[in-house]
Amino acid sequence: MSLYNVGIIGAGPAGVFAALSVCDFYNAQITVFDWQEPLKTLLPTGGGRCNFSYFETDIRTFAGYYPRGSKFLLSVLSRFNMNDTVDYFENIGIKSYVQNDNRIFPISDSAKVTSEILLKRAKLLGINFKKERVNHIYHNGENFVVSTQNDDYEFKKLILATGGKNFKLARKLGHKIITPTFTLAPLEIKETQYYNLSGLSLKDVWVKVFFENKKLLNISGDMLFTRNSISGPVIFKISSICAYEDYSDKNPLELKINIAKQSIQYLENYVEEFKTNNAKTAIKNAFGDFCPKNLLDLILKDNNIEPLKQIAQMTKKEKEIILKNLTEFTLHITSKVIGTGIVTAGGVDTNEINAATMESKIVPNLYFAGEMINVDGFTGGFNLQNCWSTARVAAMNLFEEK
Ligand SMILES: Cc1cc2nc3c(=O)[nH]c(=O)nc-3n(C[C@H](O)[C@H](O)[C@H](O)COP(=O)(O)OP(=O)(O)OC[C@H]3O[C@@H](n4cnc5c(N)ncnc54)[C@H](O)[C@@H]3O)c2cc1C
Repeated sequence: MSLYNVGIIGAGPAGVFAALSVCDFYNAQITVFDWQEPLKTLLPTGGGRCNFSYFETDIRTFAGYYPRGSKFLLSVLSRFNMNDTVDYFENIGIKSYVQNDNRIFPISDSAKVTSEILLKRAKLLGINFKKERVNHIYHNGENFVVSTQNDDYEFKKLILATGGKNFKLARKLGHKIITPTFTLAPLEIKETQYYNLSGLSLKDVWVKVFFENKKLLNISGDMLFTRNSISGPVIFKISSICAYEDYSDKNPLELKINIAKQSIQYLENYVEEFKTNNAKTAIKNAFGDFCPKNLLDLILKDNNIEPLKQIAQMTKKEKEIILKNLTEFTLHITSKVIGTGIVTAGGVDTNEINAATMESKIVPNLYFAGEMINVDGFTGGFNLQNCWSTARVAAMNLFEEK
């Protein structure tokens, strides 16, 4: 095999995996540029445990976990998917396990150990890392010229993997960037009276999301109150699906949360039966199966319902208010919490990338990988899988005959 010359911009998961993958297909000379340490961005993933993929063998279902780019990714996943990733990792010494929520982690439970193994392999393969920021890229008619603060470097093929915060290079090369916005973030709530519920978690609640009187979503999962905001898997999903909704203090998203996870009718029957058998029980102690105590206390306070009143004395109106709150507890979302999102929605327009090769449709010999593409997934390992899959497909097609 002849020697090929490949430049990769960005040493995050996508850039490093692209570099390793190029070596599986070609006898290439690879240079990876990043002003940060390689794989620094892998270290905080999965709370330091590196949730690197999600166990789902059906690629259509898998692609459905990406609010943006699912169709594009379907083609990518048909070439390199979760199974391929797990096998690849295992082959280089990263054994993994599937957690009971289907998230996949390395057996070491350590992003640091995972990154060390990947970088050890990169060293073994002779991949060259340059700790330099790329300021400018142009094509001199024969090669790409990559210009850093130190020097200019020439490459036949270039893979851009600059992540979700740096689109300047792609834009300058002529690519359309879909407006980036951060996602997978906690959401700020308008109802200040619930701020002191911080730390309270609600298990597997059912949530309906409305915007401008239109129902957007029906979704379920765990949530958590955190000071002036709410968080947790179901909230992250909402922040992701509603990434481009223009909600604000004046025009908030409305969440109606079924805390009890029961229908109104079921709760009506429950109350009637409970009243018969426990007439003297205080209202505040009658709904323990359906609502955490401190939340019920606040609901009662908010609605001027006497918590110590016996359940038998509860008026029809009071019952209606309580049951409505248990099944449609309403919160208004004014914004995402600034500076908290863990992934970027938006990025290089997928219409300008060939999904079978990851090559630019605008600039020949330029390829893309990772979060900089307008593809983003829910929490669960989907965003790293996007990195592994797009990087692998870019690498395997670099020198294919056209
Ligand atoms: C706290 C946190 C936890 C997360 N946990 C998970 C998880 O458990 N599972 C999951 O699937 N996803 C997780 N993610 C998301 C995941 O980490 C990202 O999707 C992933 O890192 C994207 O990889 P990337 O290589 O495309 O981009 P990045 O990781 O952002 O890497 C891009 C690199 O390019 C470099 N770069 C940019 N511009 C230039 C330039 N001009 N010159 C040189 N270098 C440049 C940057 O310095 C950076 O190192 C998490 C994210 C965060 C923030």
